[in-house]
Amino acid sequence: MKTTNSRSWFRRAVKVMPGGVNSPVRAFGSVGMLPVFVREGKGSTLIDVDGNRYIDYVMSWGPLILGHAHPQVLAAVRQAASRGLSFGAATAGEVEFAELLTRAFPSMEMVRLVNSGTEAVMSAVRLARAATGRDMILKFSGGYHGHTDSLLVKAGSGAATCGVATSKGIPRDLARQTIVVPYNDTARFTRAVQRFRARLAAVIIEPVCGNMGVVLPGPEFLMAVQSLTRRHGSMLIFDEVITGFRACFGGAQHIFNMKPDITCLGKIIGGGMPIGAYGASRALMKLVAPLGGMYQAGTLAGNPLAVACGLKTLHILQGLDYNTIDCRARRLEKGLEEAGRQAGAQCTVNRFGSLLTLFFNGRPVRDFAAASRSDLAQYARFFRDMLRQGVYLPPSQFEAWFLSFSHTDQDIARTLEAARQAFRSARKGTRKGVHV
Ligand SMILES: *Cc1c(COP(=O)(O)O)cnc(C)c1O
Repeated sequence: MKTTNSRSWFRRAVKVMPGGVNSPVRAFGSVGMLPVFVREGKGSTLIDVDGNRYIDYVMSWGPLILGHAHPQVLAAVRQAASRGLSFGAATAGEVEFAELLTRAFPSMEMVRLVNSGTEAVMSAVRLARAATGRDMILKFSGGYHGHTDSLLVKAGSGAATCGVATSKGIPRDLARQTIVVPYNDTARFTRAVQRFRARLAAVIIEPVCGNMGVVLPGPEFLMAVQSLTRRHGSMLIFDEVITGFRACFGGAQHIFNMKPDITCLGKIIGGGMPIGAYGASRALMKLVAPLGGMYQAGTLAGNPLAVACGLKTLHILQGLDYNTIDCRARRLEKGLEEAGRQAGAQCTVNRFGSLLTLFFNGRPVRDFAAASRSDLAQYARFFRDMLRQGVYLPPSQFEAWFLSFSHTDQDIARTLEAARQAFRSARKGTRKGVHV
């Protein structure tokens, strides 16, 4: 694997950008490597600046469910670009887009477009606070909801601990407004809600976790979250930034038959362009300016290129059969389990539709504590060996692998072949993959 050009770009990058990157996980820190600089993508293939080709399982962290550089999507963006890049005024595309989103998510009667998942969550929390007149929010440990201050908070020990910030620079008084409980722990969730009920504006949850690696909800857990939240008059916010349009043409809320008060979207709905959205019932969305007193705005919100890209992506998705992508993901899941077993590796694969995570952990992974007990050094070795063999996995144990409709049976077969070898070298603890 040639790395001359990536290394030379990285040397320049670290002088002018923290860690040489614009989002931390791209720095490859947790897999003990220098980052790969990408030149282009095509279908399921990623090509770096040294000409190495990889089967990509990051897919821009989810948005590219149709694959890189889908010709029809690119054509839609080009066509939109030819009419101008931004107007800061109302456009027809935004209306069509909002109509499509509200049809796919019946819990949202109205939506507001923003520029990222972080903004969607930030605004949803503000809306919940505006609607309830309360300040506190509850999240689950290991849940990631973007980098807004209130949600960069994780669990301390003990039941419902009042928040301790994960990041520096977050006011203590703000972190105190965030309660964190373990995912999938109905008893502790119940105790926390009962304790803080009259002060709790919202409970925010990834219905299926994607950001501690993929972790699925237990059978009763989501229902308990919904019913208790309702009983105490708090808002239930579903953060479907990853799960939206991932496992069906709609959200996890559709699959689990649930009706959150507020939904956050991002990633797939932009098809690779920066966009986010939040939505709720008409009654709630009437609180948002200019109709109501909750202020939220954006110079580039509803950007015509992002909307054209998202609309085309969703239109194409509407005509596709999610079964085909699920079957491939299932084959990958089963193949990884088998390869791991044969190599004597302690591992578990969690999967939701076309999202999956291979945990180097022989026990079931149902919460962040379990995910954290994975063998990170072994994942790093596995990652490096896979990369050398032309398979680009997420550069962290605590992330999902994303399949796309462009991944082929042959991609899966090649990936499994590489995995059989990578499992063996991961166990042996060979460190020759480091090309620092
Ligand atoms: C990615 C993500 C976000 C943040 O979205 P950005 O577009 O990166 O700001 C929020 N919530 C979840 C569940 C995500 O996966």
